[in-house]
Amino acid sequence: MNTPNASPLNVDALFIGPKSENRVFFKEMMEYAVSEHLHWRADFHPEDPALVTPVEQHAGDFRQTLYRTEGILRQLSSKLKNTSVPWFSPRYLGHMNADTLMVSNLAYVMTMMYNPNNCAHEASPTTTELEVEAGLDLCRMFGYDPKRSWGHITSGGTVANYEGMWVARNLKTIPLAIAQHEKARDLVAGKSEKELLNLSPSAVLDLTDELKKRGLFEEVRALSCRGVGIKQGSLGKILVPQSKHYSWMKAMDVLGIGQEHIVPLPVDENYRTDVAKMREITFRLIKEGHPILAMVSVVGTTEEGSIDHVDEVIKLRAECERKYGASFYVHVDAAYGGYVRAMFLDEDNRFMDYDALLARYRAEDIIPAGVTWPKHDVYEGFKAMAEADSITVDPHKVGYIQYAAGAVCMKDKRIVDLISYHAAYVFEEVDEAEGADTKVVLGSSIMEGSKAGATAAAVWAAHRLVPLNIGGYGKVIGRGIVTADWFAQRLASAKPLTVGRRRFEVRPIMHPDFHMVNFTFKEIGNDSLEDHNRLNKKMYEICSYASGRTYTNDFLTSSTSLSVEEYGDTPWHYVASRGFSRAEWDKVESVYILRAAVMTHFLRKAEDFDAYWEQLREVFAAKLAHIVDMEDKTGADTLIAA
Ligand SMILES: *Cc1c(COP(=O)(O)O)cnc(C)c1O
Repeated sequence: MNTPNASPLNVDALFIGPKSENRVFFKEMMEYAVSEHLHWRADFHPEDPALVTPVEQHAGDFRQTLYRTEGILRQLSSKLKNTSVPWFSPRYLGHMNADTLMVSNLAYVMTMMYNPNNCAHEASPTTTELEVEAGLDLCRMFGYDPKRSWGHITSGGTVANYEGMWVARNLKTIPLAIAQHEKARDLVAGKSEKELLNLSPSAVLDLTDELKKRGLFEEVRALSCRGVGIKQGSLGKILVPQSKHYSWMKAMDVLGIGQEHIVPLPVDENYRTDVAKMREITFRLIKEGHPILAMVSVVGTTEEGSIDHVDEVIKLRAECERKYGASFYVHVDAAYGGYVRAMFLDEDNRFMDYDALLARYRAEDIIPAGVTWPKHDVYEGFKAMAEADSITVDPHKVGYIQYAAGAVCMKDKRIVDLISYHAAYVFEEVDEAEGADTKVVLGSSIMEGSKAGATAAAVWAAHRLVPLNIGGYGKVIGRGIVTADWFAQRLASAKPLTVGRRRFEVRPIMHPDFHMVNFTFKEIGNDSLEDHNRLNKKMYEICSYASGRTYTNDFLTSSTSLSVEEYGDTPWHYVASRGFSRAEWDKVESVYILRAAVMTHFLRKAEDFDAYWEQLREVFAAKLAHIVDMEDKTGADTLIAA
């Protein structure tokens, strides 16, 4: 059995706290950050004279300018306090937002004053290195070899997804470009265009090594779609689960691949990609002669938190290579769920055996008895992420780091040369010990240009304090997972809420894979799905900023619609379980749900959660009474009242 060898970590000491409990420490460190910076300025060439003198500082327009500065900041502060969303409170259970780590807030502010730009090493000698380090931390978490992989920070998951598809696209056209270059052609002699479009990512990267040896890499790269655009119609299909985040549609547009080349993969009752259908569709496409550009798996769907069977995708790729000589790129969109992989790693970064993992969860009360997590297939899905070609992950979601911090990790860093604007071979001077050339010029090897070095400092600092393993992020994330499970269990067995003679039942739509709990209210005896949807939409409106009351609201959540258009018949399982007829479903084709990412770490004590749940039931009852009341006032006889 593993014994934790890292320093002990107290989760409650990581955050400011819902009542600003850790305010003294936070202010002290903020003051430290500011005063250090001010000294740093003042001490730069002490022989230089002060160029702004006290006499000037007393001038009327000088004072005026400061008063106006103060006035604007006061105005901004009151605007912010009036309408910002209180992510820090357990009363907020909506989007993937919660309190953020003090260490990353402080690191950000501290660094921001130095204003480093991670576009170029010369503008950010410190923070470029922190970014490369933070990227490698993430690579290690995903099981990538830090000597061969690479990761960096993006503005978010959207850009990380773009970048994954960008390299996949360029990779796909390299073999075609080789066939067009007279001095390189022999490398792919005898291969048909179809075969060239079906090479595996690693086979293509090996070819690029050969091109580099021959000094032909740049010339051939210029013949790939990077140089000449997408010429010959389709590069193949991109298979994306139906639950896809809309960033995938944008990516196809931006990259010129075309949205019509997305093939949606149906999802099963748990809103995960349906493995049987994925296999069927893949084999059909191959038999019809379509190359597959990429297969995308989602680890933590945005609307349900479902975890795809990444292991099945990896198996499928091997099978397609073996049986049909057809390979494809695999990208995992783990914008939401990526950090959860820390829950499976011991202090030596080993992916733990299932039984040892559960034993450790119990021994350290990370996941207590009575909470079913992880399901075995969720465990396998996370494990297989190590085999994916690239992974999107958002530190600004489950990394508990403030915006804007996304990231992308690539399993084989040779792939960066396909998009780089550096002279090729960005990573030539690899430091063997570290596995990374920390002097890399980020701006020429990534999608973005100028970007805040402060973000890199924030992510780096978070990873130093909270290790990416079971004893670090595992403890933080585990709290939300446990609370989500308790929440879903209470919803599943909640007694009806009574308003006058009317009774309402609340239920979760399924047992979550992660910590997203979706639920709806239904009036008992009213089997109109339209009424149900309207009731839940009203509920959302009065439990969100849309009520016009954010700061004074007593519960805030988010919502979404699960429709036939996006999910096929999957939502019907829940709709049926709530007693609606098939005819209702066929008529409405959509179910409106409330959506709660339970990331809060403040409700992990059973007695705290019990008290919270009791309070929440009262809040729900009062909100329902309010809706009924509004409806009575407008004279409608059902909840249809608009
Ligand atoms: C949030 C999310 C994205 C987009 O990430 P941003 O950080 O908002 O750009 C992409 N995919 C999934 C699955 C997400 O949850």
